[in-house]
Amino acid sequence: MSENKNILPPDPEAILEVRNLEKRFVLEKTLMGKPTKELVAVNDISFKLKAGETLGIVGESGCGKTTLGRTILRLHPSNGGEIYFKGQNIAELKGKELRDLRTKMQIIFQDPYSSLPPRATVGDILSEPVLVHGIVPKSEVKEYVLDLMEKCGLRDYYYERYPHEFSGGQRQRICIARALSVKPELVICDEPVSALDVSIQAQIINLLKDLQRSMNLTYLFISHDLSVVKFISDKVGVMYLGKMMEFGDKKDIFGNPLHPYTKALFSAIPNPDPDMKMNRIHLEGDIPSPANPPSGCRFHTRCPMATEECSKCVPEYREVEPGHFVACHLCHKN
Ligand code: SF4
Repeated sequence: MSENKNILPPDPEAILEVRNLEKRFVLEKTLMGKPTKELVAVNDISFKLKAGETLGIVGESGCGKTTLGRTILRLHPSNGGEIYFKGQNIAELKGKELRDLRTKMQIIFQDPYSSLPPRATVGDILSEPVLVHGIVPKSEVKEYVLDLMEKCGLRDYYYERYPHEFSGGQRQRICIARALSVKPELVICDEPVSALDVSIQAQIINLLKDLQRSMNLTYLFISHDLSVVKFISDKVGVMYLGKMMEFGDKKDIFGNPLHPYTKALFSAIPNPDPDMKMNRIHLEGDIPSPANPPSGCRFHTRCPMATEECSKCVPEYREVEPGHFVACHLCHKN
């Protein structure tokens, strides 16, 4: 994709198209403010997502998946590349245009305990964004909020209650209702079930799926839980140290993973069949610091297939079959 940078118009079929996105954080700077050390958290990432689809982003801690989601939402300013939402490059939006965009793109955070104001009732929490953005006439706000609560599996008498009166699963339902209260089209789900009990996780995932169908939502689903990603996603992106290593349809990524990192990551998924032998690929060493990533292919220090070329040349992120992208010298030769 990178060779087409700034040339092709955005894909009219994609609700979200990210091209060569980059996000850097300054770690050290001179007294004059000139950066001397930077961490590239998102490095030259490109992908497309159609309306109504779910893209699962997976990778180990520190791979940049959360930063990617927040940069797309413009919670972090990007340092390069384009973010096309419904054909408009939103990377440069400011002021009112950016505020208007906020209703179309929402986020559900990992921790439902800290992301709700403790002194506001559920009714106030859900009504505020509806009033601020004028989603429905003022006289219809309560009815609108009660309807939304029902869709999210919240009883109407919760309207007068406070967040501390609820369990983690119910709080996450409130967070989901709050995100959906402004009628978004794209929702970034940042590890939305990882803070919940396993028994509750399935309920929240099923709720997200039901809401996606009924409200035609598009999800960017960030998770380290591969089983959850396999269940909910249409497309999957695998990140390592700020780079997209492999991207494609779920059936290709789970059924025919090509990148050595994807293979290692997926080899750890437990198999429910006790007669099936697990061929787990153990990766040597720890994930390197994103502030000081390895040269060439970022995965070469842990890759069982690495060659001399891998430490010297950055592999191109290339389409190896329709819709299936891989950044690996070895995969490009096969
Ligand atoms: Fe491994 Fe080399 Fe491929 Fe990187 S480019 S994943 S080090 S084989």
